[in-house]
Amino acid sequence: MQHIPYGRQDITSADIDAVVAVLQSDFLTQGPIVPKFEETVAGYCNVKHALAVNSATSALHIACLALGLGPGDWLWTTPITFVASANCGLYCGAKVDFVDIDSRTYNLCPQALASKLEQAEREGRLPKVLVPVHLCGQPCDMQAIQVLAQKYGFKVIEDASHAIGGKYKNGPIGDCSYSDITVFSFHPVKIITTAEGGMAMTNSDELAHKMALLRSHGITRDPAHMTHEPDGPWYYQQIDLGYNYRMTELQAALGLSQMTRLDSYVARRHNLARRYDALLADLPINLPWQHPDSYSGLHLYVVRLKLDQITKTHRQVFEALREQGIGVNLHYIPVHTQPHYQRMGFKPSDFPESQSYYAQAISLPMYQTLTEEQQDRVVAVLKVVLQA
Ligand SMILES: *Cc1c(COP(=O)(O)O)cnc(C)c1O
Repeated sequence: MQHIPYGRQDITSADIDAVVAVLQSDFLTQGPIVPKFEETVAGYCNVKHALAVNSATSALHIACLALGLGPGDWLWTTPITFVASANCGLYCGAKVDFVDIDSRTYNLCPQALASKLEQAEREGRLPKVLVPVHLCGQPCDMQAIQVLAQKYGFKVIEDASHAIGGKYKNGPIGDCSYSDITVFSFHPVKIITTAEGGMAMTNSDELAHKMALLRSHGITRDPAHMTHEPDGPWYYQQIDLGYNYRMTELQAALGLSQMTRLDSYVARRHNLARRYDALLADLPINLPWQHPDSYSGLHLYVVRLKLDQITKTHRQVFEALREQGIGVNLHYIPVHTQPHYQRMGFKPSDFPESQSYYAQAISLPMYQTLTEEQQDRVVAVLKVVLQA
């Protein structure tokens, strides 16, 4: 039986040649390809600065630090995301809280955000940073979020790990029109890959400078940023406490080569999504709703079971699909229900929309090389499973 995963990378011979060329070159890291990859993504996103790092998790961490997040501060995000969107706050010693999702987009709900902010203002615990996540690649309501950010004075980091290649109101995701920093992930299941890798985009020279320092030990070689004239040509200064979060040349070469196919990848994902929409229309499930203002990166295709119309449980449907070789997945287990967060006092029922989403959601296979035959098999198996 053929196994169909929920997501997988597409590696061409051009990708392989690009990586091999780096292996045969002078630089495996800190060479010319990382800046080239950064310029390419920045150009694509129409943003001033792009900083390549070794993961989106690292990008979120240095983004929070650059925005000054620290002990005593709050970071807010959505419960329906990968744990990294919240953990970045904890790395900085800040506290983390969540805003429930919208029942239609499954993204952080702007109305829920507005009322939580009102209450937080009264209690004197407004967030310093908000991390909206473009779940499945569908952009959040960034306009509403920006209005609230200006009213309450918090910073915004878009976690666009699912959303490279997408658009919000005709602007590319990553242009930071509505945020301080936007982060991409290049993990193999995401839209384009560098194996491990991430990127932080910003239009602010100051934030870009801070993040560049933080990704490489807090070290500068630029005399303009030193406390005194260089001692000599060997000289560098550590002016902040940073990390080694650098991306290698091998990864950047792969990413640069993948960038040439980004638009065709996202277009292919849209074709597959439209086929799923048509083929699944009569089943007892809720199909993904797409906001007309935006073009999704379509990292994921999530359906929600109408459990009152199905004899099986959510778990039974999931297991039956996996037994038939359909590599379904669940994005995500609400972060506030993870033991590490439970110990901070969160209860599963704190975010009821997220809880109900978790009880019904299933991610169907969605990736650029998924064939129509494979997709037909996913649909056929799902029909049998739901009707039996
Ligand atoms: C994948 C993912 C991350 C983490 O990405 P890495 O590159 O693996 O660190 C963060 N947030 C979201 C929403 C993700 O999907």
